[in-house]
Amino acid sequence: MAKTYSIAIDGPAGAGKSTIAKALAKELGYHYVDTGAIYRTVAYFLDLLNVSVKDVDAVERYIDELTIQITYDETGKQHMLMNGMDVTDDIRTQDISQKASLVSAHAVVREVLLDMQRDVAKQHNVIMDGRDIGTVVLPKATVKIFLTASAEVRAQRRTDELVAKGQKADFAQTLKDIQQRDYQDTHRPIAPLKQASDAVLVDTSDMNIEQVLAAIKKIIQEKIPK
Ligand code: C5P
Repeated sequence: MAKTYSIAIDGPAGAGKSTIAKALAKELGYHYVDTGAIYRTVAYFLDLLNVSVKDVDAVERYIDELTIQITYDETGKQHMLMNGMDVTDDIRTQDISQKASLVSAHAVVREVLLDMQRDVAKQHNVIMDGRDIGTVVLPKATVKIFLTASAEVRAQRRTDELVAKGQKADFAQTLKDIQQRDYQDTHRPIAPLKQASDAVLVDTSDMNIEQVLAAIKKIIQEKIPK
């Protein structure tokens, strides 16, 4: 099999990982893998069954009944299939964000999803975003970026995004949600959100998208031949 390149982009919620990763994937012709969507699909599945994401025994019992597939449409957009059903849009609620954060703390869930993520990277050049890509999923990734910004800036960007979509947005509540997820994701014992020792830190608090893209492209060019 030909050598594949992998770019890991980790960081907290709302740092702009998916926006940046999608743009780079398009430009480089890589597969974009949004790993948060996989955890969201697990949370959504359990929610439909009225299983509490905190109940590890129940999560363990039901997880075997779930088959997750990642597919891509002609525009390159990632779709999540939950037992064959497309749940791509359903998993994008605030409620599922929180539940995904809680369910992702269980070892049984992380183990089930690990091979799935690694398999994609074995077959394709990938840009994968998440929380533990550089530390656990792809420890040998060709390029590792840790993308972050202050909680206030991330909450403001989320609020602006919702307003732009014509949805209701409350800055104070969004900030609270982001801080709660930050806490949960950094304090869990297994695969917590943290910068890999060999990742490059990019703090986007005072940068716009073009500046972030330029900074990351420079980091990539140093590691991956054109
Ligand atoms: O990235 P996104 O906000 O969609 O992720 C939802 C949740 O899934 C995160 O808050 C995190 O707890 C979990 N997650 C994870 N590991 C990843 C990606 C996401 O634990 N690689």
